[in-house]
Amino acid sequence: MITAYHRPKTLDEALALLSQPNTVPLGGGTLLSQPTTDSVHAVDLQLLGLNSLRVNGNNLELGATLTLQSLLESEHCPDALKRALKLEAPLNIRNSATLAGTLVSCDGRSTFGTVLLAMDAKIAVMSKQSAVSSNQSSAISVGEFLPLRPRGLITSISIPLNVKLAFEYVSRTPSDKPIVCVALAQWNSGRTRLAVGGFGKSPMLAMDGTASDDAATAARNAFHEANDDYGSAEYRMDVASTLAKRCMEAQ
Ligand SMILES: Cc1cc2nc3c(=O)[nH]c(=O)nc-3n(C[C@H](O)[C@H](O)[C@H](O)COP(=O)(O)OP(=O)(O)OC[C@H]3O[C@@H](n4cnc5c(N)ncnc54)[C@H](O)[C@@H]3O)c2cc1C
Repeated sequence: MITAYHRPKTLDEALALLSQPNTVPLGGGTLLSQPTTDSVHAVDLQLLGLNSLRVNGNNLELGATLTLQSLLESEHCPDALKRALKLEAPLNIRNSATLAGTLVSCDGRSTFGTVLLAMDAKIAVMSKQSAVSSNQSSAISVGEFLPLRPRGLITSISIPLNVKLAFEYVSRTPSDKPIVCVALAQWNSGRTRLAVGGFGKSPMLAMDGTASDDAATAARNAFHEANDDYGSAEYRMDVASTLAKRCMEAQ
């Protein structure tokens, strides 16, 4: 439950507020405004101008408060990422939910998180230890961010545009979140990253190697212990291997 609400006009003001105990950033609020027994103070980011989208060389620089739907509608958004965004949440949620809020709260079934992990996306995070200390800024990859979810204000996310990207999934219905999904990113150098989702607390990196590595086996191995109510590990291993082959064929 949100028990105090702030709407700062500057990044400095926001960081000072966020250095206070029990105070968290408010993106689209689709998760944070859900009823809970915990009490938090919310710092609404909407006036900070963090909703930009711009091409910078080989990268697409995305503001933290850009909505999922704005990214989906951008001409610069790769097609495979668009397909993943459609599965992340239905339209009404996509219109409010922000990129940063989605990454912070995502679980292993997040298609957006899976594709960003394959693309080796980078996140800019800012923080302030106390209201009087100076601002600290750091860049962290999605692969480092997801297991730890360190505190701090995400200000932007950078994704490479010079990669070939493929995304495949299997779910109960065409618009449901996947039981298994596979995202493959390949650079001109041959670097090939494969991420898998559909299970557990976070999408998993199955492979960061070269085009000649066995992506299908890497995808299979990632699901070795992936049993839950949606599917057995054996089922996921078979499906992941097939989806990885399809991603490789699509390159
Ligand atoms: C009814 C309903 C139930 C849902 N249940 C779940 C669920 O159980 N699990 C789930 O994963 N998703 C759930 N979702 C999906 C949720 O909508 C997405 O996770 C959404 O994409 C969150 O984005 P947001 O911008 O609305 O985030 P918010 O609700 O604004 O924030 C979500 C989290 O991200 C943090 N955050 C936001 N912006 C930043 C930032 N810039 N820097 C650092 N931290 C930030 C917040 O402090 C908070 O911890 C639910 C959605 C709805 C409508």
